[in-house]
Amino acid sequence: MLLKGKPVADRMVEALQKNCAESLCLGVFHPEGDGAAESYLKGKQRWLEKVGFKLEVFNVAPTTPAEELRRRVEQANREPGIHGIMIELPIAGLNFGQVRDWIDPAKDLEGITTANQGHFFATGEERLVPCTALAAVRLLEFYEIPLKGADALIVGRSNIVGLPLYRLLLNRNASPMTAHRQTRDLAAHVARCRIVAVAAGARGLVKSSDAADGAAVVDVGINVVENGIVGDLEITAESEAERIDYTPVPGGVGVVTNAVMLENLVTCWRLQQGR
Ligand code: NAP
Repeated sequence: MLLKGKPVADRMVEALQKNCAESLCLGVFHPEGDGAAESYLKGKQRWLEKVGFKLEVFNVAPTTPAEELRRRVEQANREPGIHGIMIELPIAGLNFGQVRDWIDPAKDLEGITTANQGHFFATGEERLVPCTALAAVRLLEFYEIPLKGADALIVGRSNIVGLPLYRLLLNRNASPMTAHRQTRDLAAHVARCRIVAVAAGARGLVKSSDAADGAAVVDVGINVVENGIVGDLEITAESEAERIDYTPVPGGVGVVTNAVMLENLVTCWRLQQGR
């Protein structure tokens, strides 16, 4: 079966439309002139509009000094009309580790600050969790894929996808294992697991033919090709959708990630109300 993202996201958006009357605003620090980031920004705007939320864009030139960007982020932290903050990377030559703790943890839409990651990993409490990792779990839950006791393989160990997904699956009593570039015989691990999540950014890394009958494969990967994007999962035969469950790319995890972004913005707002 194809595990499509749209019905999952639609249900999440409907719940927000019913339950959140606030008009919230997401502030995005955006690398000026970056084509890919430009199209992500338009996508974010469309999703925010679905629930009456707003977008404020802070354009950042490639030559912006780190100190100036930091000052602007701290200004957005103090601005009561901005409820969540995202910094689109790469930006002004800076990386994830350099910028993440500039964001106020209560406005940390992507759950990337060391405060929020530390809280999540230390306590397991799912307060502000990276959107894509949460989207992968929302998909599995929506399609009622049994997680309790399931062997799960996560390919990728980044702070924004692979690692939080590990914690999320552990929270649901799955038995996750992490694979990365040094892992030997990836195909054997794929074959053994009921759940496989691949978040590597490597086209064709996991072959559907290696997956066990009835396995659920969540394809997080995004690889740009001539006519669009493809994931990390290679579907080796058209009939595979009858043998395994898998998320399409596009139309799978990415769609749900947008809906989680909206939920996280509401969580940010609630955290700001409570202080
Ligand atoms: P990342 O920081 O580059 O991490 C990639 C991870 O995959 C690393 O842990 C790396 O292992 C592992 N990996 C890469 N090639 C591998 C290989 N050949 N064999 C085994 N492991 C391999 O990337 P990320 O930010 O986590 O993103 C992962 C993918 O998800 C990317 O394609 C990204 O575009 C996509 N993504 C999608 C969404 C969405 O909404 N759908 C959102 C965010 C990201 P090492 O640690 O050993 O290097």
